[in-house]
Amino acid sequence: MSQPSLLSATEYAGGVVCIDTGYVRERLAGCYLLEAEDCVAFIETGTSATVPHMLSLLEARGWTREQVRYVIVTHVHLDHAGGAGLLMQQLPEAEFLVHPRGARHMIDPSRLEASVRAVYSDDYFEDTFAPLVPIAAERTREMREGDTIKLGTRKLRFIDTPGHARHHFCVWDEQTRGWFTGDTFGISYRELDTENGFFIFPTTTPIELDPPRLHESVGRLLEADPEWMYLTHFGRVGNPWLLGPQLLAALDAMVDIAERNEHDDQRGKRIRSELKDWLFDAARGHGVGLSDARLHELLANDIELNAQGLEVWLQRRART
Ligand SMILES: [Zn+2]
Repeated sequence: MSQPSLLSATEYAGGVVCIDTGYVRERLAGCYLLEAEDCVAFIETGTSATVPHMLSLLEARGWTREQVRYVIVTHVHLDHAGGAGLLMQQLPEAEFLVHPRGARHMIDPSRLEASVRAVYSDDYFEDTFAPLVPIAAERTREMREGDTIKLGTRKLRFIDTPGHARHHFCVWDEQTRGWFTGDTFGISYRELDTENGFFIFPTTTPIELDPPRLHESVGRLLEADPEWMYLTHFGRVGNPWLLGPQLLAALDAMVDIAERNEHDDQRGKRIRSELKDWLFDAARGHGVGLSDARLHELLANDIELNAQGLEVWLQRRART
């Protein structure tokens, strides 16, 4: 397993710390330490390679491993949950909280592992995700729509947010009026911040994209009148009421690109090139002044994954 080169963490107001997981590159994927008076929780875990960094951050901030009450993953995609099993081994008092549709894949990760090996490759799996450690069923709790937990005096509420994946929930932190959004509220990289604010777009990765349900889920997040969104990709963003419509407009544009090319015999190629043009134009319109080469570095991976997810969605829709 490859190690991210350096530990980088950002502390926000209200006892929320974002840890760079080191997945793929710096500031691409984060996980969070949520602090109460005498106990803490991790939300998202990165991959197994992230775990040593999470443990050293815990220690650096003066917490013992026994004080970690919960390890929470928004969904079971491996950039969010891949390190959970290895992390749980190090945290004797922690309970693992996961969506009901994701729980069995964390208790027995063999199907998850097989599908990742099939989609990427054995080498990629070994380099990026191995080992995937199972989590004991008796340490796992399934969190359903409306469930709440106490973390010291903090109250966390869970809502079911399908659309990116059916095994996805979001976590409301009452204390900071913020959502831990996983992938439901899309992607916003700090490199693309401008004087116009945050640049945001959806992640439509395979294999359970459902645009209408993603619309509904984003709407439900906004209904809570949040002050902050804690994104996995990447970090805390404000002004959710401005970002929500931008995110949904970008989703509509991407769905439109997929639908317009549905019956084209060069479908995959056309979707990729139109997604790229759309995203680059949108970033330019937002005032991003980076070179095309730098934009390509930052966005090529998401363009590829979004294209794959949109195509899987078209195929599924054509069958039903
Ligand atoms: Zn993700």
